[in-house]
Amino acid sequence: MLSRSILRSSLRALPRTIARSRPRIPFSRFFQQPKPLNSLRFASGGPRPPRIIHYRYNPEEIERAKPLISEEQIRNGFRHPGTKLLFLALGSGGIIFYVSNLETVPVSGRRRFNCYSEESVEAEGQMLYKMIMQDNRQAILPEWDPRTRMVERVMRKLIPASGLENVNWEVHVIDSGEANAFVIPGGKVFVYTGILPIAKNDDGLASILGHEIAHNLAQHAAENMSRVVFLLPLRWAFLFLDYSGYTGGLGRFFGDILMDLGIMRPASRKQESEADYIGLMMMAKSCYNPEEAVKVWQRMNRYQKAAGNSIPQWLSTHPSDETRIVQMTKWLPSAEEARTESECGVTLGYSEEFQAAMGSRGIWRDVFG
Ligand SMILES: [Zn+2]
Repeated sequence: MLSRSILRSSLRALPRTIARSRPRIPFSRFFQQPKPLNSLRFASGGPRPPRIIHYRYNPEEIERAKPLISEEQIRNGFRHPGTKLLFLALGSGGIIFYVSNLETVPVSGRRRFNCYSEESVEAEGQMLYKMIMQDNRQAILPEWDPRTRMVERVMRKLIPASGLENVNWEVHVIDSGEANAFVIPGGKVFVYTGILPIAKNDDGLASILGHEIAHNLAQHAAENMSRVVFLLPLRWAFLFLDYSGYTGGLGRFFGDILMDLGIMRPASRKQESEADYIGLMMMAKSCYNPEEAVKVWQRMNRYQKAAGNSIPQWLSTHPSDETRIVQMTKWLPSAEEARTESECGVTLGYSEEFQAAMGSRGIWRDVFG
């Protein structure tokens, strides 16, 4: 009903010239493929350049248009006993699904919902990996480059402490001014040379790589994908309110902002802090100096400020550098302890112990609850 009335009014609103030039085209054929313009001949003789015509809706008509579903229909729908049963079934099904997929993050001991297997996340990561490799084919440094060697050397020391020895690790150093480093699920490590001055030395690089490996160890990618599973029905609810005329298009808009600022960003900041903690313990256990991690964030802070990239923490997906420095300084004594306890040089075989020992400390939980 809605589309018909709008079409009719828009036809009425068409410029008169068009109505005159095509009087015999019936309404039903109006949206059929028009003839190519250069095949039409006009009074002047030559072909005319194509004219852009703006089809405009009549605003009054739109105001009068009824929503697809009336308020009455929605009210009746909610009153129907079948609807209540459906919501009850969906709700209890959702709770069972949520509780049965709760798990504990290694090292930090945080409880979270995760319904994706490591394999499915790795399959997702594979696409991203191919894309990055293709885009940076020319910029990937050779194995003999001292910068590649530095990253490999630090990785070799960190991996045994991560408990991820079975992962098929692959290191790529990209020649770029960008200060970036990340690990794609499946053990694909990418380091951009722009971050090396911030890392400064092996200890600094260990703190950066430790943080990135920690994202993998804690399976943050799977956690993010799982969160979307629960947020999607919420988004559909906002869309439903929009389309049934309740929120007039604003529901989706404010719903997205609400979900982003209220759920996604705080969750992402929590993951960042968790990766900081796990990474710090990992580097300390691998005999690197944990104090350098604090210095790395101080250097990062200076770099960000020089680049003019400082946004308020609540708007950011990352904790501010200041927050990170305060948190890490607080964790330093435990990291030092982990480093002393570790028999540096004999690193193999304690990874399981590392996860268990750090988890039982519960320091991370003291800070974040
Ligand atoms: Zn991170």
